[in-house]
Amino acid sequence: MPAVAQPFSLTTESALITRVTREVADGTVRLGTYVSGSTQLRYIATPVAVVPGSPAAIYLVAIDLDAATSRLTSGLTTYSSVALITLLAIGLVGWFAAGRLLRPLQTLTDAALAITPTDRTTRIPVVGNDDISRLTENVNAMLDRLDSALTTQRQLLEDVRHELRTPVTIVRGHLEVLDAEDSDQVAVTRAVAIRELDRMTRLIEEIESLADAQSATLVLRTVDVESFTTHMFEIAQGIPSRTWVLEGSGQGEVVMDAERVTQAWVQLVANAAKYSPEGSTVLIGSRVSPGEVEFWVSDTGPGIPPAARERIFERFGRVDQSRGSSGSGLGLAIVRAIVIAHGGRVTLISSDTGSRFGLVIPRTEGL
Ligand code: ADP
Repeated sequence: MPAVAQPFSLTTESALITRVTREVADGTVRLGTYVSGSTQLRYIATPVAVVPGSPAAIYLVAIDLDAATSRLTSGLTTYSSVALITLLAIGLVGWFAAGRLLRPLQTLTDAALAITPTDRTTRIPVVGNDDISRLTENVNAMLDRLDSALTTQRQLLEDVRHELRTPVTIVRGHLEVLDAEDSDQVAVTRAVAIRELDRMTRLIEEIESLADAQSATLVLRTVDVESFTTHMFEIAQGIPSRTWVLEGSGQGEVVMDAERVTQAWVQLVANAAKYSPEGSTVLIGSRVSPGEVEFWVSDTGPGIPPAARERIFERFGRVDQSRGSSGSGLGLAIVRAIVIAHGGRVTLISSDTGSRFGLVIPRTEGL
């Protein structure tokens, strides 16, 4: 008998019994399908013979296939439904999660697309405190840096345009009124043109120097502060009409780009000579503390008014802002760029009896 309870009884299936009796009459085993109403039966019928050749009985087994497989089918259906629902739920949750995760990235993309050369103010709102919000903060910080770099570049271009216009206007003005027959006038105009062209050349060189100080990598080496100071004192003595005094020398070593720091210090020395009265005394010196080294120049010039003490370190920043003064106005900007590249700072103490400019360079640990 089949292992699964069958919803029919063979004793009532007389048509099936008649059919298998006929089928096994030839003594063979028969396998077949019999449809009784809505039930489909699979059966196997075997003639049982006591004496060979004359069948005395039939062994018949039938099963209702649907009933036999119904548990399996219903299990399969349940599993399929659960799997489908789970799959749908996972898909739905994944879709929402991906949407939530990708929304900030989409906002990021939109913000990036919204930034144009004319509108660089757009920033991405930072929401939450996760990796995406940190990425957003970093992108915002990068945009700030780009914005400030672009502003600086525009400012530089504007300043250079302004600075170059002065010599060009002067030379043009002289040429326009020049009487080529008048040899004195020709000589004056020639001198003016050469002076202005020299000024333009200096300006171009200093712009290059400033760009280098801001971007070139430092060539670091260990420098003995005392011999470095002595060396600078010797350079200063080559500048005439000033009394140069070595005020003091620090003892110790510092790791720095000696060439660039020399360039910055020479600029301070040259300014001290330029802005102090002829014959006056200019002091130079250095000091070493555990954390830093300072190189200074102290003059008895006119000093820097408080209102101009920040400005003079900016490009083209001068005490007297009227353009066209003898210098380019880039010297102190170069000095500051060199010191900042070392992680240091410039110092300025000034009164109307003189100024003391200093370069402070941090010392690397262990020196
Ligand atoms: P400049 O080419 O005009 O000298 P700098 O950048 O070297 O440009 O200096 C900027 C301004 O700072 C100068 O125009 C000057 O007004 C002022 N300055 C610099 N050094 C001194 C100093 N030692 N004494 C007085 N004023 C100074």
